[in-house]
This record gives sequence, structure tokens and C-alpha cells, in this order.
Amino acid sequence: MSFDDSDVPEPRMPYAAPGLPYPRILVKVSGEALMGPEPFGLHPPTVAAIARDLVAARALGCEVAVVVGGGNILRGARVAGEDLDRATADHMGMLATVMNGLALEQAIEKAGAPARTLSAVPMPTVCEPYARQPALRHLRRGRIVLLAGGTGNPYFTTDTGAVLRAAELDCDAVLKATNVDGVYTADPKTDPSATRYDRLTHDQALAYDLKVMDAAAFALAREAALPIIVFSIREPGAIVRAATGSGRVTVVAP
Ligand code: UDP
Repeated sequence: MSFDDSDVPEPRMPYAAPGLPYPRILVKVSGEALMGPEPFGLHPPTVAAIARDLVAARALGCEVAVVVGGGNILRGARVAGEDLDRATADHMGMLATVMNGLALEQAIEKAGAPARTLSAVPMPTVCEPYARQPALRHLRRGRIVLLAGGTGNPYFTTDTGAVLRAAELDCDAVLKATNVDGVYTADPKTDPSATRYDRLTHDQALAYDLKVMDAAAFALAREAALPIIVFSIREPGAIVRAATGSGRVTVVAP
């Protein structure tokens, strides 16, 4: 089944600005980032601000894919227990990411750019099922592609999904949006002696057991030689700065 109307090959980056360090980016937006100051769910002004930032990155000439998390609604590992097995809980978590994807899709379209949600858990009456070729075509046509449903499998996270999609969609970097301005030796919120890294290798990130992404995500990024740019999404314009290689970030790269 195809959701696209053409199989004519198109050149990459038809409207690219020259000199971009990462012409095709994959932005990982956690569910918590969409929650803003709320304790749960979506905070529409925050969703709108993130959408504007994604649209600004596209306006620079970046092709923009986004993997959305679901932690603002449900995390499988947290709700699994005696009454709910882990695989079912994770399926519920994946559905949460689709809700977030749809919210972000609409906010992006309101901000003036075309967007498509593609879900790894097929639900064709709601959004397109994920497949690599249609996703690539959307990117080449300047659509912001929201990749929901994580990897489509339980026991994974959307961080691993982000690296997986970045690798298969030939993205130049994963932009990992967090609440802090990079990777620290310890949690800077609880440990005042924590210091920040400007640059790390994937091996170091794994060896130091840094919690910014799970080990499966770092291991896959190492395998694919994919740079991961860790930055704070709290400031407006943060995605554009990370995409252009400026701003306060930690770069995890080979
Ligand atoms: N999930 C899953 N497989 C995946 C990605 C996500 O089962 O490939 C489920 C899992 O239960 C997870 C939830 O979806 O807790 C929400 O994703 P995640 O915790 O990664 O969201 P984030 O922390 O980015 O908001």
C-alpha cells in the first residue's frame, strides 16, 4: 500500500542552504518536553513553541524528521506490574507516542510547514504506517516527518527508535532534546559537582554509563557512526542552534 503519489526519484535537499553541518536531522523530542510546566499530558504553548522551532530548522534548509516520545502520558516500565504485563504496557506507551505525534503534526502545520505522522504501529485511519521509502520521499519534499510508535516493539525506548530511524533514513545527526544543556558527569540537578562535557565518543558514553540515552541507543549510534547532539530544548531557537552547530551542546561522535 502506498500513501505517496509518485515514485520519480528526487534529488536530496532540493532547497538546501549550503554549508549546513547536518542537512538532514532527526530530532528526538521526549514526551516530557511536550508537557512544559504541567505534571502530565500536553502543554499547548510548549507544543507550539517546539513546532515553531522545527519549522525554523526546516526554513534554514534542513530536512527534519522527529521521533516523539510518550513519557508525558505513559511509560511501559513504570506501569507494568502484577496486573499488566510489560509487553502490553509497552504497547500502551507506543500508542501514547502516536497521540503526541498527532499533536505536534497539527502544531507544525499551524506554524506553516507541511507535516506527516508515520507510525511504527500501523493505524491507517489515523496516520500513515511507517515505511522507509515513503518517509524519505516526505523528507525530500520538505515535509516534517513525525515518527511515532517508537520501534514498534516492546522493551525498547524512543531513544533507540530515534537512532534506528536516523540510521535508516540517512540522517546526518540525532538532535537529542533534553532539559539540560548537554551531558554531565552526574545529574546536575542533584549533584552540584557535576561537570559538563563538550564532546564525547560513543565508547565513552557507554563506558561512563551516562544516562542521557539508553545503552542500546548509544551502541546503535556507534555502529552507524551517527553523531548525537545533546541540547536543552527549554530556550526558543534551541533546535535551530543545534542544527547549525552552534549553541551550548554536547556532541557525542566517533
Ligand atoms: N515504547 C516501546 N517501544 C519503543 C518505544 C517506546 O515499547 O520502541 C514504549 C515504552 O513503554 C516507553 C513508552 O513507549 O516507556 C514511551 O516512550 P519513551 O519512554 O521512550 O518516551 P520519552 O521518555 O521519550 O517521553
